[in-house]
Amino acid sequence: MKMTNIKILKYSITGLSILSLVWIFMRSTSITGGVADSIYLGGDILTMAGNEPAYVEALAVKDGKILALGAKDEVLLAKGESTKVVDLGGKTLLPGFIDSHGHMILFGKNLMDANLFGTPDIDDLLARMKAHTPNVPEGQWIVGMGYSARVLKEGRTPTIEELDTVSTDRPVMIVDGSGHLASGNSVLFKATGITAETPDPVGGNFSRKADGKSLLGPMEETALNAVRIQRPAFTGELADQVVTGAAALWAKHGQTTAQEGGLGLGADDIALVRNAIDKKLLPIDLYIAAKDTATDDTINAAYSIASDYNKHPEGTSLKLLAERPDLDKRYINRVRLGGIKFWLDGSPDSCWMTKPFAVNPPGKEGEFLGYQQIPDAVLDAAFDKYWTTNLQINMHMLGDAAADQALRAIEKAVKKYGMRDHRPVFIHGANLREDQLARIKAVGAIPSFLTTSLSRQGDSVARLWGPERAARANAANTFSKLGMPFTFSHDAPVSPVPSILELVDAGVNRIAPSGAVLGPDERVSAYVALRAVTAMAAYQIKEEKTKGTLEAGKLADLVILDKNPLKVESKDIKSISVMETIKEGRTIFQKSPSIASVAERPDAARSATNCDCHVHSSSAPKFQPTSQADLDALSRLASAAASTQGEKQ
Ligand SMILES: [Zn+2]
Ligand SMILES: [Zn+2]
Repeated sequence: MKMTNIKILKYSITGLSILSLVWIFMRSTSITGGVADSIYLGGDILTMAGNEPAYVEALAVKDGKILALGAKDEVLLAKGESTKVVDLGGKTLLPGFIDSHGHMILFGKNLMDANLFGTPDIDDLLARMKAHTPNVPEGQWIVGMGYSARVLKEGRTPTIEELDTVSTDRPVMIVDGSGHLASGNSVLFKATGITAETPDPVGGNFSRKADGKSLLGPMEETALNAVRIQRPAFTGELADQVVTGAAALWAKHGQTTAQEGGLGLGADDIALVRNAIDKKLLPIDLYIAAKDTATDDTINAAYSIASDYNKHPEGTSLKLLAERPDLDKRYINRVRLGGIKFWLDGSPDSCWMTKPFAVNPPGKEGEFLGYQQIPDAVLDAAFDKYWTTNLQINMHMLGDAAADQALRAIEKAVKKYGMRDHRPVFIHGANLREDQLARIKAVGAIPSFLTTSLSRQGDSVARLWGPERAARANAANTFSKLGMPFTFSHDAPVSPVPSILELVDAGVNRIAPSGAVLGPDERVSAYVALRAVTAMAAYQIKEEKTKGTLEAGKLADLVILDKNPLKVESKDIKSISVMETIKEGRTIFQKSPSIASVAERPDAARSATNCDCHVHSSSAPKFQPTSQADLDALSRLASAAASTQGEKQ
């Protein structure tokens, strides 16, 4: 060591040339540090690093990570006999998309349910439920998902009596597209022990008939949760299908990291995730935010997912986490417990505002401000518990009063425990006032805008909230100009398709179903929108060191698009297709085999071996590439949902 220093001093006259030799040596070793498994070239390779678009000519992958990128000649130095050279043929390569708020497990269950998106009236809804009934295994509830009471001709939710026509001996439940409202038949309420005498839980209600002596059917928010949690578990092959079906759909839409932003909504959620871990079912990473609210059980159970799997009995997870605080930073067979989820308010027609709704939703009289879901004390206690841990608090909020509540809680935590790199997530953060921005910046909170709320429901949102609030909703450009982080998320199944490109289109164009542009000032460029689903999304989930941009050493999580979103007219972004999705160097979805490539190397399918966030990564996921027929069936279901859902009213 000393000798070297002396030598460098001695040759200081030629220091410049020594430095450049060192530089050349370091560069060549980084590239010849190994033979690449694959090299991509022949198209736009957009790194997404930095505030301006940057391209490289070629990108090399080895052992699931990006080995090198830059000029073609230099990257090709890493080419060996076994290297697969992929000619992009003019297509565009980007970092894999990151889901910053969606419900992959819930969506997987919905894939098993009757599709009620776009159903025009109650007769049609009941017919769809009856048609679905023979597909439902014995012992399971007959469930339909996706109707909207506002879209139904009758303008209301179906009643117990109407749903009794679907079945009088099996539980029947229908859940609306937002997931905040539902109804059921007589057997459902009987099976779940709910009667007209059951007190309404805090933050929800069971509708009763005028005499108050019997149930009407509709149930909202926490009341719905109390019923939904009793749904029989998916087991056996059904349990596998829930996870693999949804993950395949996420991958089809270019996502290499998915999210379950409310694990525990169903009683079998934990078991489904455990099953996926056990059987290594996941082709992509899954970030979990465990539903917190009522009891600690869900959180404790979710902790045990993060525990050193199989080695520790259930119930010791909190203790284990105290001993091994690193566990909740890591993926275990592609699953990571990253956060805790709270709901501070409800849907666009019940969100908690400081100023009254412009037009009241049906059945609401007088000055209507929406609903608060949880008392301050509950949220404050959560920050007491989690502010100093690695688990991020994710808070669903649409109204500005809910954002006030979040800020109050975070500021108290900062005062008590000091500022930390917690990155609290404002899920949706649709209505944020000017005066809240500096406070959001000060505490490092990140909104994750549901941009499709305007492209799919913008007209009804503008009516409910008034045109001014709608124009300022999802204030992406305000955040962008202030240099504050934000992301775009689909919240699928709230968006009926887990499509990232649809979010990009909606963030760039802000066009409501009627064709009106809602809040032109909040439109962002295609590059800023893409940052919101790559680099910024990685930052939100605290994985920016390994994901979100194309940089040497990061994971080779990639997506290939048929066109470059930065080079098409903004109105054409929605016609761009995901051609291929690559997780850690391995193709997990491919639209067509047209991308020229040599035969796949068998050992190229290895996953990363030394990534610090994949503790069990040396064993590659045992993912069976879903057959094209499966993918087609899923995409038919999803596009049927998409084409019928516009809420054009
Ligand atoms: Zn939500
Ligand atoms: Zn959600």
